[in-house]
Amino acid sequence: MSMNVLVIEDDPSVRTLVKAVLEKNEYSVDIAETAESGEEHAVDNHYDIIILDLGLPDGDGFDLCKSMRDQEITTPVLILSAEQETDVKIKCLRVGADDYITKPFDTEELLARIEAVNRRSGEVNGNRVLKCGELQVDMLERQFKVNDTPVDLTNNEYNLLVYLLKRKNQIVTQEEIAENVWDIHFDTQTNYINVYISYLRKKIRSHSENEYIDTVRKKGFIIRCDD
Ligand code: CA
Repeated sequence: MSMNVLVIEDDPSVRTLVKAVLEKNEYSVDIAETAESGEEHAVDNHYDIIILDLGLPDGDGFDLCKSMRDQEITTPVLILSAEQETDVKIKCLRVGADDYITKPFDTEELLARIEAVNRRSGEVNGNRVLKCGELQVDMLERQFKVNDTPVDLTNNEYNLLVYLLKRKNQIVTQEEIAENVWDIHFDTQTNYINVYISYLRKKIRSHSENEYIDTVRKKGFIIRCDD
C-alpha cells in the first residue's frame, strides 16, 4: 500500500521536484499551494506525512502546523525551509513538527528524512494515538487523557499503560510486563506490578466510572475495550 503525502509549498520549482521524487518512489502525492488549501486537505484526508513549507503566500508554516495540532491532526510533519538558524528549527519542533529539512536539499536526504519521521512516529498510517473507550494516549506528546481530561502519569505508569493498550483485550502476564516494560526478570516475591496497576486504576477511576484493567487470576492482567 503506498503512502499518501501532502506537500504544502508555493514555490512551483520545489513543488515539482518534491512531487517527482516522491512519485518515483511510489508515494502518492497531493499538492496544496497555500496555507488555507493545505489545512483543508489535511482536515479532509488522511495522510501518512505532510511536507510543509514555512513561507506561504497566505500565512506561515508555524501557524499552520500549530493549527493542525490543535485540531488533533497527528500526522507527522516535515518542515521545508531556507532558514538555517537553530532557533527556527527549535520553533518548528515546538509547534509540533517532527523534523526539518533545509532548502536546497538533496533528494536522497529528503527521502531518508521521510522514512525516519515515519519510523519514529511508531505506527503505520501516522497513527500515534492509542485508544480504548474513554482512554487515549498520544505517544508523541506522551499525554494520557481520560474522557478528554489530561491525567498525569509517572514514567512507569505511562510505560505500563502503553504496553497494555498495545495488547488491548489480550491477557498479559506479570513476566511479560516485567520483561517488556522494565526489562527485568520477574520475581514472584515482589508486588510492584500490582502496585503500578493499582495506581493506574485509581487515576482512571478519578475521571471514569468504568473499570478498564482487570486482574485475571493466576494469569496476569487485561485492559478491556470495545474499540
Ligand atoms: Ca515558500
